[in-house]
Amino acid sequence: GSEASGEKVYIIGTDTTFAPFEFQNDEGDFVGIDLDLLDAIAEDQGFEYDLRSLGFNAAVTALEAGQVDGVIAGMSINEERLLKYDFSDAYYTSSVGVAVKADSGYSSLADLAGTQVVAKTGTVGASFAESIKDEYGFEVKYVEDSSTMYQDALTGNSSAVFEDYPVIQYEITRGMELKVITQSEEGGEYGFATLKDKQPELVEMFNKGLQNLRDSGEYDEIIARYLGE
Ligand code: GLN
Repeated sequence: GSEASGEKVYIIGTDTTFAPFEFQNDEGDFVGIDLDLLDAIAEDQGFEYDLRSLGFNAAVTALEAGQVDGVIAGMSINEERLLKYDFSDAYYTSSVGVAVKADSGYSSLADLAGTQVVAKTGTVGASFAESIKDEYGFEVKYVEDSSTMYQDALTGNSSAVFEDYPVIQYEITRGMELKVITQSEEGGEYGFATLKDKQPELVEMFNKGLQNLRDSGEYDEIIARYLGE
């Protein structure tokens, strides 16, 4: 972090395209559930922050290098990550979905045998793909952002994408020609992450602010802003 007029400014890393959690709207502004929550929590708790739209893996790498103080990027809380990071209370429940081009002939994991699938580096979607690739006989290709991942499936270069279910579902609702063939429970719950034991005050403020937003109804308003009532 850095100091501006004696006041700490937390540097927060996020993903690039991960709608409805973070994405650029038509005006080029970064919006989404994560960013609106962060903004409302910072206002409620009276802290300053500077947002860096880095990509998921880059944000986590920056956190480990001490270049950012926290990450909010639809980041799933799991046992492996709890060894390295402190997470806030969970703010959204997710899972991993496997999606194929809507007009492709693929309808189950078994149909992916002998093909290449695509996943985003460092994500739970990628770990899920790795964990079942031998059983189903597919290869996993890695990309750094979700837009590239979707294009790879839409052009037929990869047979399937492994991505968080609410994110794929959001794109499908907005016309992306993909269909979900299966879901895992692997996605877990999303939390705001800091490096273990490095920013206890930031995690505490996040949790207090999140609880205040839940109590005031603003949490529900933010969700409804992107997903409807
Ligand atoms: N929820 C997934 C994870 O934590 C994906 C996050 C993302 O791609 N922004 O790995």
